[in-house]
Amino acid sequence: MTEFDAREQAQQILDYCLLSMRYGLNFNTQGNISVRLPEEDRFMITPTDMEYDRMSADDMVVVDANANVIEGRHEPSSEVTVHLAVYRRRPDVNAIVHTEPVFANVFGVIGEPIEGALVNMIIYTRGAVPIMPFAPSNNTAFGDAMCDVMGDRNAVVWANHGLLTVGPNLRDAFKASVAVESAAKVLLHARAVTDKVNVLDYESLGLRSGL
Ligand SMILES: [Zn+2]
Repeated sequence: MTEFDAREQAQQILDYCLLSMRYGLNFNTQGNISVRLPEEDRFMITPTDMEYDRMSADDMVVVDANANVIEGRHEPSSEVTVHLAVYRRRPDVNAIVHTEPVFANVFGVIGEPIEGALVNMIIYTRGAVPIMPFAPSNNTAFGDAMCDVMGDRNAVVWANHGLLTVGPNLRDAFKASVAVESAAKVLLHARAVTDKVNVLDYESLGLRSGL
């Protein structure tokens, strides 16, 4: 087993940040990404208020479970306490991706969960994506309430704001974000031509054992 390389981890986070812009999931300084580090009570997260395309691996911030900065020259993302609430509540989660993509946000604005339009989405999300009602997202209370809404699923839309996805690793958490936005886009296009859309139910498909 290779020793943990913090620099490599920081670069991986940056790579997915840049990919989120290329895929149109974020603009300006929107979004944030974090991972749980191998050392207990340590998490690496993107800094606050910095464009991804101006960020370097050295700009990542390491915090403890109370959001105290352990390493780094910047303040962590303003939503760090939301990420920490997820890590506290979901031991299965090792990575979190928050983005602000247009089509997922439409469902937040109309207050309707994103149903399983695509099989790829519900495999990652473990079902329809619920909606967290709007509230300021820079505090632990929002994080706890959001965890209640998300339950054991891997995605939740924040009404009038964005999307948060989680996973056992960063690659899966990121793929969940892409999958949700794709499904939201397809669903809205389908609805533009008919009211009769076919969606998948995660529980009845027996996908829990994986494909
Ligand atoms: Zn945001």
